[in-house]
Amino acid sequence: MNTQLPRLADEEKNNRLDECGICYARYLPIGDEHRPNSGNATDYTCENNSCSKAFHTMCLVDWLRSITTTRQSFNVLFRNCLYCSEAIAVKINATKN
Ligand SMILES: [Zn+2]
Ligand SMILES: [Zn+2]
Repeated sequence: MNTQLPRLADEEKNNRLDECGICYARYLPIGDEHRPNSGNATDYTCENNSCSKAFHTMCLVDWLRSITTTRQSFNVLFRNCLYCSEAIAVKINATKN
């Protein structure tokens, strides 16, 4: 069984996944911290393989909530990717209750 993987492609993909497609930053600052590498890395990726755009879940939720045509079911927001038309579903984190 040949399980050798195309390593270069993986690395290129990982590099592309770094920046959020909404705020264009790798890390989302938390609170008033200004250290460049503190904060949340992108944690959502478009499932379209030819897009594979990364986002912060928090950015996506803010964006989706600002658009009136976003559909919501319970704590999940549904719409389409900003960069392609792939359907995206983002679960709202219950950070504040
Ligand atoms: Zn972001
Ligand atoms: Zn996409």
